[in-house]
Amino acid sequence: MKITKVKGIYDILGKEAEIFSLIEETFFRLTKHFGYKRVFLPILEKEELFVRSVGDSTDIVEKEMYTFLDKGKRKVALRPEGTAGAVRAYIENQVFLSESYTKWSYFGEMFRYENPQAGRRRQFYQAGCEYFNAPSPLADGEVIYLAYRILKELNVNAKLYINSIGCDKCRGPYKTLLIDYLKSKEDKLCSDCQKRLKRNPLRVLDCKNPVCKDIIDEAPNILDHLCECCKLHFEQLKEILDILKVPYKIDPFLVRGLDYYTKTVFEFKVDSLGAQNTVLAGGRYDKLIKELGGPDIPALGFAMGVDRVALCMKEAIKDTRHGVILLPLDEKLLPYAVKAFKLLSESTSILEQIKEDIDTKKFNLVLKLMKDEKLRDFLVAVRDRIELPNKISKIRKMFSLADKKNFAYALIIGEEEASKNLITVKNLDTGNQFQLSLNMFEG
Ligand code: ATP
Ligand code: MG
Repeated sequence: MKITKVKGIYDILGKEAEIFSLIEETFFRLTKHFGYKRVFLPILEKEELFVRSVGDSTDIVEKEMYTFLDKGKRKVALRPEGTAGAVRAYIENQVFLSESYTKWSYFGEMFRYENPQAGRRRQFYQAGCEYFNAPSPLADGEVIYLAYRILKELNVNAKLYINSIGCDKCRGPYKTLLIDYLKSKEDKLCSDCQKRLKRNPLRVLDCKNPVCKDIIDEAPNILDHLCECCKLHFEQLKEILDILKVPYKIDPFLVRGLDYYTKTVFEFKVDSLGAQNTVLAGGRYDKLIKELGGPDIPALGFAMGVDRVALCMKEAIKDTRHGVILLPLDEKLLPYAVKAFKLLSESTSILEQIKEDIDTKKFNLVLKLMKDEKLRDFLVAVRDRIELPNKISKIRKMFSLADKKNFAYALIIGEEEASKNLITVKNLDTGNQFQLSLNMFEG
């Protein structure tokens, strides 16, 4: 019997895999640029970690966790998100003792037992950042700017929504006001929200049910009830975003589905993708480190939904020609082809060296490269991809394979080429050919 994949869990292959790689590469390039160091964190954690951080009355913990007993009867869970584990690692490794502030980035799979649909999977990928010991609104501005830059570089057209949900001091009185208001409308709320009203009233503001929408629109606004400290923090953040020229909208009912947030929360949403339109979300969690047994250290972060961003980028990878393939015309020419393969492949390290100190032996090649556009384009293609054919067959067959695999150049290797230490380079787009001496690459 054929064994199939588990419901809601997908293989990432082909174009989607290429887009995932592009997202990963762009994410780590930009996070590194802003001072973040990549970390590799466990997928499996104690269940209690998520119950205590994400919150026991959230959808994630109530309905969506992959929890089980391991063989030692420990209650463990596949991580549903990245922040809780990052905070646990930050505390457990006492990173705060050796670093005045810490910036971490990570990329990996998360698990939530949800109803699978477009943009909602049971195993999905998040690219996330955490910035520990960052009390100032400058950090909020920097983190949001980083998220904005990543999406921009990936050509994802998303709108930013921001809000402040205050701190312990101002949220308490606001909650009382909100509960009073919601109680007066209780019979009109959806059944989920009637439960939320008792367990986690702020979450009512996040309800997508149209029945609740009108009630929410008239609810007391948290921004009118922030304490002086939270109000100032939010004002300063807005000023910083204005200077950074990051466009945003204020959404006073943005509360997020996790309990650990304080002050700033934000989401980037796209117009496509229907109901699953949030591609990146985050905020500040000033009390979480302390709640999980660490010192009182303020922090913030975000997570980007890689699967959803990939859906927005379907057109990002074009099937353009790239790279070169060697085509020896005969079995006898194999040793020569293999030698050419090695020389060409190694020669492209010179492209990296141009940026740094250059070895005098290679100086002549660099001079030629700078003068000869054709040669430069060819070597860039070699650096991108160089392959030997997987078997020697008739030249017409090999050309047709090179065409199907979208190579930019075919390197023809015949008797004449081997005897003169040459290769014939054929541009598969234009059909133009030129010859190149391998002497140039020999050390
Ligand atoms: P949603 O309201 O869409 O369920 P969320 O508030 O549960 O999102 P977060 O926990 O903030 O999501 O996760 C950050 C991002 O991870 C989301 O904005 C989304 O892009 C992505 N994400 C969350 N759950 C899933 C899922 N089941 N499948 C794919 N991506 C997801
Ligand atoms: Mg969710």
